[in-house]
Amino acid sequence: MIEIKTKRLQLKNTWTIARNSSNYKENVFVKIERNGVAGFGEAAPNVRYGENAELTTEKIRQAEKVLESFDWFHFADIKKALDEEIKNQSCAKAALDMAILDWVGKSLQTPLYKLWKLNPADTPITSFSIGIDKPDILKKKIEQAAIYPVLKIKVGKDDEKEIVSTVRRMTDKPLRIDANEAWQTKEAALEKILWMQTQNIEFIEQPMPSDMIDETAWLRERIKIPIVADESVKTADDIPKLAKSFDGINIKLMKSGGLLEAVKMLKLAHSLGMKVMLGCMIESSLAITAAAHLSPNAEWVDLDGNLLIGNDPFEGVKVTDGKLILNDRPGLGVNGDF
Ligand code: MG
Repeated sequence: MIEIKTKRLQLKNTWTIARNSSNYKENVFVKIERNGVAGFGEAAPNVRYGENAELTTEKIRQAEKVLESFDWFHFADIKKALDEEIKNQSCAKAALDMAILDWVGKSLQTPLYKLWKLNPADTPITSFSIGIDKPDILKKKIEQAAIYPVLKIKVGKDDEKEIVSTVRRMTDKPLRIDANEAWQTKEAALEKILWMQTQNIEFIEQPMPSDMIDETAWLRERIKIPIVADESVKTADDIPKLAKSFDGINIKLMKSGGLLEAVKMLKLAHSLGMKVMLGCMIESSLAITAAAHLSPNAEWVDLDGNLLIGNDPFEGVKVTDGKLILNDRPGLGVNGDF
């Protein structure tokens, strides 16, 4: 009943962050069908969370009986059942949650943002991510990114000053910095961020390892730019303990296990005075568009994973001068197949 396929997404450029380097990404795509209507979903397994395409596929297969036993309009009940059934490989849950909501929207002939009563004109500007590279390649990438008004710069291999200086010599665009947990002590992180503060940086993402919550609180008292949690937060349960240390959180469907949990996280973070960024892994336009439907409610958006791949099997949300443009097609509003 669930069609599942692993597909290799080729990256336009080698993608390097503090943890690893890659030339392609293997994502798992799903298609569910009932009453002549199809719903599509995508899982982007991430090694950081012990995920891979094989284990993800297994989990999706395991959840098949859950989907068979439910009326798909009862999507909140399906979420509860999937939370019981799938304890890790959260990206597998994300793919199923996305497919069900795509199916619901298509069955009701309504775009998802409309079901949530969100105004598609309120989508924010997405940042465009620049991976870690030597200055000559960085320069090329910054030139290629000319159409994007905000850049997210990956650092964390102890060359952050060289990287940020290289970028700053070329552009005065707002920069967001992502260290991907790289800085191992609060003193080292403080020294690096104090220097960053002289470089017109909008915020710094996950400067230290995910469990160094107290050290991050110490850091926050000593710096002026906001700190955003990424690896420290997966689901709503993680949020309350982060409020003392972080100014915002990065919600990604692959960590949360889908859109329904992401909605819950948005509300909880805002109620605690934290800002929200909607982020992504390397994903096709299918999963990126799913997240974009929630973006009118987010302060920051980093939904550019589809822009980094060369063989996107889907098309949906578009980017014009950095702004996300949602279409008025029903469900996720995505065309394509795998
Ligand atoms: Mg990040």
